[in-house]
Amino acid sequence: MSHETIFTKIIRREIPAEIIYETERVLAFKDISPQAPTHILIIPKLAIRNLSDAQPSERDLLGDLLLAAAEVAKRGGLAESGYRVVINNEVGAGQTVFHLHLHLLGGRALGWPPG
Ligand code: AMP
Repeated sequence: MSHETIFTKIIRREIPAEIIYETERVLAFKDISPQAPTHILIIPKLAIRNLSDAQPSERDLLGDLLLAAAEVAKRGGLAESGYRVVINNEVGAGQTVFHLHLHLLGGRALGWPPG
């Protein structure tokens, strides 16, 4: 089911964002509060609340998101140095914007396990 978030407004260009990659179905833009030298959000233009809400019919779109993350990482020179892709699912995992998004993080050493 469709619902409005700040990301819907970014998709519609109603609020500014530093968009760095776009396809028919996917948008990628810089996180407003970066947690690493590279911190980019990759989102579907279709409003899906989170990963738990994703449907089997959205399989291709979910694949698009991962491939977009890999492409953005490659373009940003991170493919060799390494990067991390994170999905926070629900409040307990730190989700604050309820529109499915991948965090692409890189440009510094990334500890494991994450906090
Ligand atoms: P999460 O906590 O996993 O839901 O991630 C939401 C992310 O969206 C956070 O890292 C925020 O810094 C980021 N964010 C919130 N508002 C904006 C915005 N207007 N433009 C870019 N990033 C945003």
